[in-house]
Amino acid sequence: MKRLERIFVSLRKKRKHLGIDLDGICFDFQAGFIPWLEEHLDIELPPSEEITSYYWYEEIEGLEEKAFWDEFHKFGKADGYFALDVLPGALEGLHRIVEAGHRITYITNRPNYAYRQTARALTLHNFPFSGKLEFAEGRKSPLVREKRVEAFIDDSPRTVAELCAGTEARIYCMDYPFNRDIHNLTGYTRVSSWDEFLEKEGI
Ligand SMILES: [Mg+2]
Repeated sequence: MKRLERIFVSLRKKRKHLGIDLDGICFDFQAGFIPWLEEHLDIELPPSEEITSYYWYEEIEGLEEKAFWDEFHKFGKADGYFALDVLPGALEGLHRIVEAGHRITYITNRPNYAYRQTARALTLHNFPFSGKLEFAEGRKSPLVREKRVEAFIDDSPRTVAELCAGTEARIYCMDYPFNRDIHNLTGYTRVSSWDEFLEKEGI
């Protein structure tokens, strides 16, 4: 094999394909949706660090499951995703991945009507973004397999469990009080920051 070809092959080998969740990894969904719920349902929610269930209605008194989901969709349809703050380290981390020559695919469980507002927010905040977003509609493992994603970071305990069971990818869980009840689950790595995630991926 010629020298150039060898270099090309070795570069291709080192090029990783990383899958990235949006809410809880790139955007602060809690900080946006908590005040919305409080205002629209006239209830008071505990500070986000005290919420220990991913589905808040499971532990918060006075918050009914149906009302939660109704408001979730009203929030989404009112462009709620567009106004979310970017989480610390996300933008820097994503640019670091791309600058190192790796590939990113965003895979989200946001409803697919949120495409436009999500794309606008990614563009506004200068995320590495080609216009392509994957909407998993509840289950991310089929997309992770199909897209040959090698490592995925998420914060949903249900998604982390589903990815561990259904893919060969390296799975990372961003630590939050609401996802600590998956300690019995094996086959994933818990990280507490973007820096830790990138360090473990050697980026
Ligand atoms: Mg998430």
